[in-house]
Amino acid sequence: MRIVLLGAPGAGKGTQCMRIVDKYNLLHLSSGDILRQERANNTELGKKAQSYMDSGALVPDELIVKMMAGAISNAPEGGFVLDGFPRTVNQASALDKALEAAGQKIDVVLNLVIDDQIVVDRITGRRSCPVCGGVYHVVNMKPKEDGLCDKGCGQLIQRPDDTEEVVENRLANYHSQTEPVVGYYKDSIGVCDFDAAGAVDDISGLVFKKLDSLS
Ligand code: AMP
Repeated sequence: MRIVLLGAPGAGKGTQCMRIVDKYNLLHLSSGDILRQERANNTELGKKAQSYMDSGALVPDELIVKMMAGAISNAPEGGFVLDGFPRTVNQASALDKALEAAGQKIDVVLNLVIDDQIVVDRITGRRSCPVCGGVYHVVNMKPKEDGLCDKGCGQLIQRPDDTEEVVENRLANYHSQTEPVVGYYKDSIGVCDFDAAGAVDDISGLVFKKLDSLS
């Protein structure tokens, strides 16, 4: 199963992805996590991406497409969930072409729909595990122990781009550059919308129901 998960920053893509990959045994391919890993390893790509990421801007398409095409080509047969990619119509059409060349296609596009104000509250309260990529919230999804990852990785952090200053910019970029990707898929394979304002378990329940109906 090859899945694209769309949604504004803070819609809960990371959380839902972790649940989907656990249940269906898929590879989680998060462009944001891969970029953060590149930065941690101080690679050329990581250095190029740094200033875009810290200001909430999108990293240029050519860098992202190359990076994600590489990650997808190494993915196991079982499939993957794309999280944070594609984020522009250009990226979506490059993804279609890369998959087509490999005799593959996206099976389903899931879209988490959310209000901007909820996004701001969620993102500024979000805490992430820099080791396993786990995502928590200081109010809505507390870790078992304050400030620590439930999987024993250690201290949780607030990502530099999860601060209030950067959130507005990320939302503006989402509306201008990424929302058109929803339209791109609506015009091709179709999109399943989910109201992402509710409880995490309720949303995953609906997502699982949809995915079960496909397999
Ligand atoms: P995320 O963790 O998905 O919110 O991504 C964090 C940051 O990485 C974004 O604000 C962008 O600067 C960059 N990024 C991640 N995925 C992409 C993408 N598909 N296209 C461009 N930039 C991206």
